[in-house]
Amino acid sequence: MGEILLITAQGDSCEAVLQALETEGVSAKVANDWKQARNVFSSTQVDLVMVDQGKSSMPVLDLVGALPELEPIGVDIPLILLGSNSAWELRARELRAGATDYVDMPFAREELSALVAARLRTKNRIDRLKSDASVDQLTGAYNRRYLDTQITSKLGEARRYGHPLSCAIMDIDRFKRINDTWGHQMGDSVLKGVATLTRKLMREGDLLARYGGEEFALVLNHTDALGAAILGKRVLSAIESVRFAPEQDELIVTISMGIATFPNDDAETVEEFIQRADERLYRAKSGGRNRVVGLE
Ligand code: GH3
Ligand code: MG
Ligand code: MG
Repeated sequence: MGEILLITAQGDSCEAVLQALETEGVSAKVANDWKQARNVFSSTQVDLVMVDQGKSSMPVLDLVGALPELEPIGVDIPLILLGSNSAWELRARELRAGATDYVDMPFAREELSALVAARLRTKNRIDRLKSDASVDQLTGAYNRRYLDTQITSKLGEARRYGHPLSCAIMDIDRFKRINDTWGHQMGDSVLKGVATLTRKLMREGDLLARYGGEEFALVLNHTDALGAAILGKRVLSAIESVRFAPEQDELIVTISMGIATFPNDDAETVEEFIQRADERLYRAKSGGRNRVVGLE
């Protein structure tokens, strides 16, 4: 579970809120201004935001809107406002702008802690649904739909900030034969094993997705052609040397991989970028399989 972020400039209300949270057994990070809030956001997974507005009539969501990093507040992350300005116009405006709740100060401790628990419950449920919708059931890798959204944003970031980005497509060699010889269930467990092994070799911010039946896509952040080729070879040799079924020595699995790298592969669109990786995968296959083909 993530953290609660409490944004407040007033020390005394802060204590009361922290005590209310304590009864719920949750802790909070406190930020005294929006700059501090941004720092917490960039380093922590925040599940709920509380803002003590004091007597201010400055709409909180106007402040949030000015800082792109804080955009998920009030959209994907519940926002509880605490305030002693009880003008209904202000409360209505905040709620319409995306605040989840508006709590009048002073508050009943039990009510605030119950509200926090309720909002966290909903947030956790939504997170679970989101994860189910973006993850492939069999392998635990992300699914194609999630890959499409992520690669679009990663390629956009790479272009904007000028860092390299690699995308690899890998395909299990002669997988049909594995199914035909050892059965579909063994095929499934090879798929799972390949995904698990590959993910272990990747960095945390990288993404592994099931691209098709026995094809996977790897999106490698801040990784140039050389780095991607090194990772590709590591994946290749790890898969080749693992025994998926200890009692069946002949079951050796190999993969082929094609890699595209931005900016060297000057792809205008995501489709073109993946297409480059796909073309190289095809060359890896026609060149004899069990190999990586990247930029020359
Ligand atoms: P190549 O080296 O050229 O890639 O040969 P291949 O046999 O791997 O290629 P092909 O595309 O002909 O076969 C892919 C096979 O993957 C066919 C399909 O039945 C199997 N497959 C796709 N999805 C699954 C799955 O979820 N589980 C299992 N067990 N098999 C699957
Ligand atoms: Mg194959
Ligand atoms: Mg295939």
